[in-house]
Amino acid sequence: MIFAAFCGCSKNINNSEATDVINELTKEYEKKTVVDFGDTVYNFKTDSQNCFDPQMREIVSVNSGYYFFIHDKKANCWLKYYDKNSNTCIPVCQRVDCNHDNDNCDSVFLKEENITNADGRLWYYKDMLYYISTEIHDNCIDYNLNSITLDGSKRTKICTLYSSFFYDSKAMGMQMLVHRGEVYYSMSGTEISYLYKRSLSDIDSEIEICRCSGFYTGIYNMQGYGDGICFQCYYYEDEPKDEYDIKEKVFYYNSNTEEISFLSDDILGLYSLADYGILYSNGTDMMYLGFDNYESKVFIKDCVSTSSFDGKYIYVDNIDEIEIDIADKQKRAINIYDIAGNLVDSITLENNSLPSAFGDEDYLFQYFLDEYDDYVLCSFDKSQIGTGKHEWNKIK
Ligand SMILES: [Zn+2]
Repeated sequence: MIFAAFCGCSKNINNSEATDVINELTKEYEKKTVVDFGDTVYNFKTDSQNCFDPQMREIVSVNSGYYFFIHDKKANCWLKYYDKNSNTCIPVCQRVDCNHDNDNCDSVFLKEENITNADGRLWYYKDMLYYISTEIHDNCIDYNLNSITLDGSKRTKICTLYSSFFYDSKAMGMQMLVHRGEVYYSMSGTEISYLYKRSLSDIDSEIEICRCSGFYTGIYNMQGYGDGICFQCYYYEDEPKDEYDIKEKVFYYNSNTEEISFLSDDILGLYSLADYGILYSNGTDMMYLGFDNYESKVFIKDCVSTSSFDGKYIYVDNIDEIEIDIADKQKRAINIYDIAGNLVDSITLENNSLPSAFGDEDYLFQYFLDEYDDYVLCSFDKSQIGTGKHEWNKIK
């Protein structure tokens, strides 16, 4: 990377000893079916909140409520807090002289910080919030890890996780996850994508977990589970001629043993964690792969949607199916299943509704557009599930 050195980017250490998950792991798995997940008991304070869905993580749950980012018309972001007991929502700002109505408010993140450029959005770990911002300087793009205290009074840039030449093909975006004291992050590229980790207690030491090579490749959809993470990678074996040439594989990485295990390659779209297993679509049906025997079985027939599990129910937003439904026959809905696969409830939405954030055991969330085209966040009390009552509560 001569260009990177020339422009002054601090290049990440790319140690060629790292495992290439595509070339080395898939074959090995055929001989080995036991994966070590370590301690799989979920800990609210230290474990990543996978229940908020693989795609939308602008909301995090804390003891008494939720933190979330909301955009304004100037493309700035506001950090807000929704207290679920008092049903009130406030900007996260401690300034006594502030009316929270202009860019100087402590809850505002100016668009120049590019906090939504990176896909990680917002994370909670042990009474602290974490997010990625990007900074462009001297033809370089820096992906910075930052923290925010829960009262909003202190923001800290912790470190630059990755820095690359602006036109470097690897600079296609970062995905990030905080889980059990580790920060996991991936960079995708045209030929190689990388997965790294750093410990919050030793932030300057970076470990390259693995890489994935291909003709366009990415490592993404990291989800904390046990003492490590599940993650997914895609790649093309050759110059892609059509989108179905894409190959997808799911792996598990144990942070204690540093061992990577292959889970599945029969996947199209995003997997999600479920009750001691994963759910994914094989392009036709939604499948469940159980971690007890590593056998896949049909969970929902004729379903290509992604799903989310909150510990009790599985939520399936059919937004992807609406997009490919040329005849426009399907109604947009969030379908709710129990862990045996029985449909418990179905919440219908307008067909142009935004993706849902399925939430923790108490609430699910949905952004709606109001008459002024502003985003309005609404919550859905999950105690309504199965009662026939479907009321959204506007919490802006
Ligand atoms: Zn303010």
